[in-house]
Amino acid sequence: MYRITRSISFCYGHRLLGHAGKCRHLHGHNARAVVTLEDATLDEQGMLVDFYELGNAIKGWIDDELDHTMILCRQDPLVPLLQKAGERILVVDWNPTAELLARMIFERVAAAGYPVRDVTLWETETCSASHRADPSRPAEERDSG
Ligand SMILES: [Zn+2]
Repeated sequence: MYRITRSISFCYGHRLLGHAGKCRHLHGHNARAVVTLEDATLDEQGMLVDFYELGNAIKGWIDDELDHTMILCRQDPLVPLLQKAGERILVVDWNPTAELLARMIFERVAAAGYPVRDVTLWETETCSASHRADPSRPAEERDSG
């Protein structure tokens, strides 16, 4: 097996519905997504995937949709207010925790056709959450959903 890892830094804001502590307030993170691909075979150049290509594919989407974006749950009462104010927001159907953001990035990388093994989202210098492929399911099943 071969593995490669690419990191992408970006800034985002969010707040967590139902959170008892400070995370219920709007706040932001200087985050880093760490994307790891794994495959048994290499291309004719001896690469799993070119770092440059992988970076362009993932960083382009993160820059366009996540960077400097307020990520909020659909049920958050601030969604209509921020939309009306023309703020850059991404509305999701789940509480925007680091775990579920890692899963969203994982699913986007997988949907782009890359053999993603796991995605870790570093929300701060000391806190990260990961989502990874289910090792009990073969890759061809994972690809289809
Ligand atoms: Zn947070």
